[in-house]
Amino acid sequence: MKTPITGLHHLTAIATDAQQNIDFYSGLLGLRLVKKTVNFDDPSAYHLYYGDETGTPGSIITFFYWPGAMRGRVGAGQATAITFSAPAASLEFWYNRLSRHSLTPTRRSRFGEEVLAFADPDGIPIEIVAVAGDERPGWAGGGIPMEFALRGMHTVELTVRAAAATETLLTEVMGYRLVRRDGGRARFEAGVGGSGRYADVMADPKAPRGTGGAGTIHHIAYRVPDDGAQLELQERLAEAGFGVSDVRDRDYFHSIYYREHGGILFEIATDVPGFAVDELPEALGTALKLPKQIEPLRSRIESLLPTLQPARQYA
Ligand code: ZN
Repeated sequence: MKTPITGLHHLTAIATDAQQNIDFYSGLLGLRLVKKTVNFDDPSAYHLYYGDETGTPGSIITFFYWPGAMRGRVGAGQATAITFSAPAASLEFWYNRLSRHSLTPTRRSRFGEEVLAFADPDGIPIEIVAVAGDERPGWAGGGIPMEFALRGMHTVELTVRAAAATETLLTEVMGYRLVRRDGGRARFEAGVGGSGRYADVMADPKAPRGTGGAGTIHHIAYRVPDDGAQLELQERLAEAGFGVSDVRDRDYFHSIYYREHGGILFEIATDVPGFAVDELPEALGTALKLPKQIEPLRSRIESLLPTLQPARQYA
């Protein structure tokens, strides 16, 4: 089936402390903070976006902050890891950098790929995967030598107890193609394929059910070029029986949401208008940006939000 989905757009997770999160993702992993805004549904909390230089879809990781939130449990019915692509020659660099900061990664191999696995400060599983030939540029300004910089998301790991319905959604409705299967893991791809366009379905009938909360991934968003492509998918999803939302304006993209049969929240987000819509490209992430409907409340919102410092520098 032909699909307007061209790959991954962003992933959103829940953390407890915005400063700790900036230090980790921007300072240690070298991602660019591309947007500083608030949770549109709860403006007393930050919503931060990280990515490459311009926040290209597929490179974007976003966080909601719930200080003192109940810890969630990573498990079935969730995206269960944030997986980054890195140049093949960079894995020793990353192993050493993470080890110097007491994150000692575990080495794994999967589908012929070398993987470093560790966790972020809230316990979210993170992987850096050595990928040859990922032409995406990454971010040169994050203090990581250009030849080692993370390129963006590699895949998304979707953990479900029974895989059939999730796989059918991917292939029959969302237009993904099966690439390979190994044990309980099946890899699918969209668009022209390759890193940033994969989705891995992990079938684990014994996995504990995931519960939402700090330290878990909230949803995964797939990308489409524009509003027309999004409406086409919205109709296709409704016809297939999914309870798909109306279109929501997220300022930097437009979104629809639906829950797949395994319980994971999916989103379809447009490539347009992007993060430069309300900030100059060179100034991305430096000022607090508010959606226009809550802009009149700026001084009150600012008084509730903790002050954020630039990312800590790591040796
Ligand atoms: Zn989202």
